[in-house]
Order: sequence, then C-alpha cells, then structure tokens
Amino acid sequence: MNQTNKGLNTICTHVGEVVDEQFKGAISPLYMSTSYAFEDVDMKRYPRYFNTPNQEALCLKIAALEHAEAALIFGSGMAAISTAMMAFLRAGDHIVLQRTLYGGTYNLVTEEFEKFGISYSFTDGLRPEDFEAKIQENTKVIYIETPSNPLLTITDLKGVAALAQKHGIVSMIDNTFASPVNQNPIDFGIDIVIHSATKYMGGHSDICAGAVASTKENMERIFQLAKNFGGSLSDYTVWLLERSIKTMGIRVRAQNANALQMAEYLYKHEDIQNVYYPGLASHPDHELAKEQMKGFGGMLSFELKEGFDASKFQKSLQLIKSSMSLAGVESTVLSPTQTSHSLLGAEERERQGIKDGLIRFSVGIEEVEDLIDDIEQALEKVRSTMVATTH
Ligand SMILES: *Cc1c(COP(=O)(O)O)cnc(C)c1O
Repeated sequence: MNQTNKGLNTICTHVGEVVDEQFKGAISPLYMSTSYAFEDVDMKRYPRYFNTPNQEALCLKIAALEHAEAALIFGSGMAAISTAMMAFLRAGDHIVLQRTLYGGTYNLVTEEFEKFGISYSFTDGLRPEDFEAKIQENTKVIYIETPSNPLLTITDLKGVAALAQKHGIVSMIDNTFASPVNQNPIDFGIDIVIHSATKYMGGHSDICAGAVASTKENMERIFQLAKNFGGSLSDYTVWLLERSIKTMGIRVRAQNANALQMAEYLYKHEDIQNVYYPGLASHPDHELAKEQMKGFGGMLSFELKEGFDASKFQKSLQLIKSSMSLAGVESTVLSPTQTSHSLLGAEERERQGIKDGLIRFSVGIEEVEDLIDDIEQALEKVRSTMVATTH
C-alpha cells in the first residue's frame, strides 16, 4: 500500500520500513552486514554506496516527509551540506549564501572553498532582492537557512525559489530548525532540502546524522559524489534514526506549542529585553512565517534587560540545561557569543545583530509551568546578586 501521501504522523510511523518477512516482527530488523552476495554489476550493496536495506528504507521515509522524490542520509549534517554543495559546484563557480548561517556552514565556506577555486558572496539582507544583488554570471547555487540560527530570521522561500529558477541556479535550504514537521520547502519551489538529523529528526541528543532530499535526478548527482566522499551513516544509527522519526511529529508539535507559550511569557516579562520567535506577532516576519510554516518550531532567543548577568542566569537554571546542541526533548540554553558564534568575531556578530547577552533557547517537551518556574528562580538569583553588589 502506498502510504507516502498519508498524514504526517502516519508517514513518520509507517513509511520506509524494512519488513520482517522471516519472523513478522513489528519493527524494522537491523542489517549490519558490510558484505553482501554479488548479484550483478548494477546492484552492489555496500554501506558506503548508501544502499543497505536499512539505509534504503529510511531514505523513503525522509523523502516522503519532505515531499521529495528521493533522499540520502549521511554521517552528519555537515557531511550532507558539504556533499550537496560540492555536487553542484566546481572550480570557477560561485555560490550566494545568506549571511546568517549555521556556524559550521560558514566555516566550511570561508575556510575551504578558496582551495577548490570556488568563490562566494554573503547577502547583505534576507529579501529576494538581496540575493539577486549578489548573483554573478558564474553563480550556480543559492543557499538559505530559515528560520536561522540564532535570531530566527525568516527567508522568503517562494521568492528565493523563483529567483533561482529565473537565473537557472540551484536553490538549497538548510531546513534543520523547522524540521519537516513545520516546513516543506520543495512545495515552494526550492530544489534541495538539507537537514542536520542530529537535531529534530533524532530528537533525543544521541544521534549524529544528516539528510538531503530532492528530485531523483538531483539525488543521483549528489550520490555520485557522496560515494566518493564516503560520508555514509552506520546502519546501527540508521536504525535508531528510523525509530526516532516515528515520534518526530508528536515531539515537534509539542515543542511548537511549548515554545509559543514560552515566547509569550518571556515577551511579557519585565526582566526580558527582546524575544526572537517567528510565532510572535511582534516578529518582523511573522506574516511570512505564517505563509510558509505549519508551526513556528521549538527554537527561540531572548536578551535579558541591561545589567542582568546572562552567564549567571544560565548557571542558575536547574531544570533547563546549558548545552551546545539543540532540538532534544529536553530544554537547553546556550550563549551564541561564547559557543556557536564565537569564531565569527565581535565585528561579524555585531553585523548579524548577535548581542553578548543573547540566550538561545531550545524548548523541550517538559511541562511549561516547570520551565517557567525554573526561569523565575534563576532570574531571582540574578536579581539578588544585583542588589547585593550595589551596597
Ligand atoms: C547542527 C546543525 C548543522 C550541522 O549538523 P551536524 O549534524 O552537527 O553536522 C547544520 N545546520 C544547522 C542549522 C544545525 O543546527
């Protein structure tokens, strides 16, 4: 039965399973073999060829979730990003990237591309005109990320896709922050969708993986490079990721609901200066987010009022952990200045609007009341030291 046109949670649960013909077990059996009998020249099964039973099954699930014809899974989000980019770029080519990017992607481009003879431009803003302004004769790829890290800016999917089509350029998106639950860029004309599956797809902070989804033709091109780069994912992790995605719909929708409530609470709080969340009516791109997203996601950022020690605040949290990564079922916070964006330098951070007191909040599935209690007691601790030092 074809289940790829069913609803989200049905796809998460049922599409792309390895059927247990032998024992009729309820879940996909795990095939750890790295060696398979030779059948014919066109069908050589091998983990690095991305075609073991568990890999092939999970790719069907991810393709269905992103409304794509095909998908591939990788050993990390960066393996997925670098392979997808390099499949469409060669020496002499140029890529246009949005300025606010995941730190690892920024590093890949600025540290590695020159040695391959690939040039790049970052946009000054996020409107389609800002992308068009950077297009050159040799531009082959436009690369976006929406919502972005850490300020949750929104880029116009339809506008960028139309621009790319007009110029005959391939458009790529890092869809990690939205997850396939909240945003399906292919429906808006974007060519290639990339995920760090380490985040919402995995969702339990215990898997490092990546995924790319697109047309069969584009995925064949990416595959030809992928098998040479060798960034495949271990079958054990493939199997774990399949299990994780079964609950992705209910996890992410719970995180959407919690994040919206937390954003509203923080927005009204007198100790909080700014809240960045696309689900708030105060977000400059709230209307655009409503058009292209089904939910606003579990990520938000906020700044404490001047005089509040952000690092003391983070250390005072008891339930909400301080963590480098994001998107797990547990709530975590991080200071972009000290971690993900520390390599950018003060000037580039200033340019991107990332203040030192900014706190990125990955909202989990806990009860909202408990998250609020935790933030209240941490703010209380910070306030008490502020009073003490004035005496
Ligand atoms: C984490 C992340 C990546 C990189 O993924 P890895 O799995 O760590 O390689 C890329 N983009 C975004 C938005 C991320 O959050």
